[in-house]
Amino acid sequence: MQSDEVDFVSPAPATTFAQRLSEHRRNDEWKKAPRRIEPAECIGCDSCMRACPPQFSAIYNHGLDVVIVPELCNGCAKCVQACPVDCIYPDESWQPTGQAMWTYVEGQEKFRVRDN
Ligand code: SF4
Ligand code: SF4
Repeated sequence: MQSDEVDFVSPAPATTFAQRLSEHRRNDEWKKAPRRIEPAECIGCDSCMRACPPQFSAIYNHGLDVVIVPELCNGCAKCVQACPVDCIYPDESWQPTGQAMWTYVEGQEKFRVRDN
């Protein structure tokens, strides 16, 4: 290798919840866009939270809102099927989650028992 070449190695996909949470990144092998909840339409029933598979655990109560963390959401749409008011949409232009929300999610997850 030339001395000015960059030795770039792609990181392995974030295949576990723990990886996604600690590295704040989505599994880049997921093909579907993450989902987002439209707060103006959401009635706060939490059905989506119960429907989100535990290996993703992408939905959190945050203040008055119910929020999907896009880095944790693989777009499986289980929440969409559970939502009584159909207010969960694909989010093709999702933005990285801010540190304050990650800190909140980490706090919520601290005492949850998981096997993934
Ligand atoms: S699309 Fe799937 S992974 Fe994403 S929030 Fe909904 S249920 Fe969870
Ligand atoms: S299921 Fe729908 S209405 Fe209920 S909290 Fe989730 S997004 Fe809001």
